[in-house]
Amino acid sequence: MSEIKNLTLRSGWSVFASAMGHGEPFRASNLRGTSGSVSDSFGGCGRLYTCRCGFGELYRASAAADGVAYTVRSFHTPIAFRSVSGEWHMDKCHYSNRTTRHQNLISAAIDRAL
Ligand SMILES: [Zn+2]
Repeated sequence: MSEIKNLTLRSGWSVFASAMGHGEPFRASNLRGTSGSVSDSFGGCGRLYTCRCGFGELYRASAAADGVAYTVRSFHTPIAFRSVSGEWHMDKCHYSNRTTRHQNLISAAIDRAL
């Protein structure tokens, strides 16, 4: 079991990029990174079912095929993942202002460093 890195939302995108790039689990308030995929059962994927941009379908299909290496969640909803082949994918949908803040941070980490 890897130890969870405790970050804050003020840590800055590069700190998140470092954890994500190394596949390290992290937690910053309600923004979390975990290795592998998150189960969709018992509402484990939060509001992912409301996704309209295709990310939700891609996440579920990839998870079902054991193709998710790392998942970033806002509250319970996956907002980004790295496939086992190394590609990062992000959800483009709007959920809430706090999740948008999480998405902007993770997007900066992926676009600038991953
Ligand atoms: Zn979406």
